[in-house]
Amino acid sequence: MSKLFLAIGECMVEMAPTAEGTYAMGFAGDTLNTAWYARKCLPGDWSVGYYTAVGTDKVSGEMLDFLKGSNIETDAVRKLDDRTVGLYLIQLKDGERSFAYWRSQSAARLLAADVARLDEAVSSAGLIYFSGITIAILSPEDRKTFLSSLRRARDAGAKVAFDPNLRPRLWEDAETMRKSVTEAAGLCDLVMPSFEDELAHFGDETPAVSADRYLAAGAKMVVVKNGPEDVICASAGERQTFQPDPVRDIVDTTAAGDSFNAAFLSEYLTGGEITASVSAAARLAGKVIRHRGALVDCLQSR
Ligand code: ADP
Repeated sequence: MSKLFLAIGECMVEMAPTAEGTYAMGFAGDTLNTAWYARKCLPGDWSVGYYTAVGTDKVSGEMLDFLKGSNIETDAVRKLDDRTVGLYLIQLKDGERSFAYWRSQSAARLLAADVARLDEAVSSAGLIYFSGITIAILSPEDRKTFLSSLRRARDAGAKVAFDPNLRPRLWEDAETMRKSVTEAAGLCDLVMPSFEDELAHFGDETPAVSADRYLAAGAKMVVVKNGPEDVICASAGERQTFQPDPVRDIVDTTAAGDSFNAAFLSEYLTGGEITASVSAAARLAGKVIRHRGALVDCLQSR
């Protein structure tokens, strides 16, 4: 198996409020968060890469520098002269965070428009990781191209992991979201949903129902996260549940699921059993939620 963990999706500029009333610029995005944590968790003989599209302007360059500075490979990233990266602003009101987005014309929306480049990027990966947001931002035609490219990579031996990360506002409509996510899940070795989303948008009564639904769609294994509640790992004929250790002093649950996925996959890809993979995942997510922000340096970098 190739030792390249390749995450695919959209990294955005993040503007986060500071105590001084100004904004601090950073970079984040669900798949990028997972790549960033995977780099922290995986041993040094693994590479972590990110596939997306950016512009050729200064802020796009700064984003690539940030990725490279985090030891994430960016060689395959598409660069487009007439687009730039998406941006979101975090607003605080009475301690509650809300988000304003400028991403509808972002370069990342064209990440699957050059199929030869995409095919080449995925062909060298041992593990391809993407999310519902990755496919939500694509045109219907590019979505098909994207999933076909993943299928080819998988047929050639890559493993594919997917977090449905259901965000109806990014999709044309809720039905298209459900159909596309189900189709994507069907070609995956691992599907890693959060039950809160599945309950809200598929109406699943329990996490076990979510697991069974994705298995029926064709997923080989499903790991259902559920905040502080049990994690379910299900594959054909087998189901295990794990209780994450309780976490006190929760500060910010941003990236709980993203970091969980990274630690799970890192342990699993390097030969860990499911039990060890879930416990590494819950341990990391438990640390991340005790700090503010998406990217928390709470592991020794390798
Ligand atoms: P997401 O961020 O995708 O919504 P979840 O909220 O389901 O994901 O959380 C992912 C993982 O983070 C959980 O499986 C668990 O391991 C950990 N986690 C999240 N919230 C808590 C909590 N309140 N107490 C303990 N662990 C938590």
